[in-house]
Amino acid sequence: MSTPTLDDVLAKGVRGQRVFVRADLNVPLVDGRVGDDTRIRAALGTLRKLLSGGARVVLASHLGRPKGSPDPALSLRPVAERLAELLGRAVGFCEATIGPVAEAAVAALGDGELVLLENVRFEAGETKNDPELARRLAQLADVFVNDAFGTSHRAHASTAGIAAHVPRVAAGDLLRSELEHLAEIRSPVRPLLCLLGGAKVSDKLAVLEALTPHTDVLCIGGAMAYTFLRALGQPTGTSMVEEDRIEDARRVIAAAERFGRRLLLPTDHVVAERFAGDAPSKVVTLIPDGFMALDIGPETAARYAEEAHQAKTLFWNGPMGVFEMEAFAKGTEAVANAVAESAANSIVGGGDSLSAVNKLGVGDRIGHLSTGGGASLEFVQGLALPGVTALEKTAMESSR
Ligand code: ADP
Ligand code: MG
Repeated sequence: MSTPTLDDVLAKGVRGQRVFVRADLNVPLVDGRVGDDTRIRAALGTLRKLLSGGARVVLASHLGRPKGSPDPALSLRPVAERLAELLGRAVGFCEATIGPVAEAAVAALGDGELVLLENVRFEAGETKNDPELARRLAQLADVFVNDAFGTSHRAHASTAGIAAHVPRVAAGDLLRSELEHLAEIRSPVRPLLCLLGGAKVSDKLAVLEALTPHTDVLCIGGAMAYTFLRALGQPTGTSMVEEDRIEDARRVIAAAERFGRRLLLPTDHVVAERFAGDAPSKVVTLIPDGFMALDIGPETAARYAEEAHQAKTLFWNGPMGVFEMEAFAKGTEAVANAVAESAANSIVGGGDSLSAVNKLGVGDRIGHLSTGGGASLEFVQGLALPGVTALEKTAMESSR
């Protein structure tokens, strides 16, 4: 990457400078409090370095999907409270994102202090990457550090636009670490195994199409497996099948054949008559009429686990079944354990996949847990991330 790193910026000195950090603090809120603080913890490394370097940190993030205007239920205030606990120091919160109130809050910062601005998506220009909003955000910054990996696939004012208006930019530690790890999927030590699951073919079609020619083995699980089985003319009962994606699934299967890649589909299934945790379930090799497949069966789980043991590089995105329900969690658990046991360089991405890994407590045995589901999928597909290219462009121009 041709972008300066956080350490480059720190080496030149940041004491007294206003360092605008765009982080991804989009955490779930439960009753007005932070539910899962994984993303806040992921931002701590960059923030601690800047604060101990004496920077005046102006922190920004989005939270949820407000409609371009303030929504009290999506205020970042609870995040400021949790961040203060995690940092073990005071964290200021500013009820504005731009304008005189934000400017005053930033002007009041001392060296080594931090203020969190209100949700950037309360501003209508954020998701439109409005140049005027980008310019006003830039007025709060001497240095721009993008550390919002999970949002870097979006060209928004606070992730991309702002970079054009600040002379000094850098990639934060989280962003850099994500890009370094995910690059190992793009140029893997082979064999490369991709385990893809989750709800929908439509969500993951682009990544399926991009990874099929590139990966050595592709194991498919989750609901999307049934669209593939239908494409092969197998019975799928009442399983989730996306009728309008059957043709796409056929194309992926044909591409795997053409490139000589092994594409594996479930050969046994845990089925039930209802989508419910207490529905009686059984293991079958052919899905009977009136039954839906809600998890991969034990034989499939064992085959996928064996592939994980053979792999040198491994990418997993998307659970193998409805893991939220105990009765249909075994396939996902078996795969999570196999990924943890594998000696391969392993990378797991996707919100639900991460919660499965965390529930099992095997996270520390996995090479890299990617904090950005959508961004990690776009990056492994070989797409450019606007939040990264904006940094590169500014870095190139200011080095001239
Ligand atoms: P991630 O967040 O890891 O990218 P997705 O959001 O794509 O994963 O998919 C996760 C969802 O897919 C889970 O809510 C899970 O219950 C659902 N799912 C997995 N397998 C099935 C299945 N066989 N039938 C219905 N839903 C499924
Ligand atoms: Mg999900």
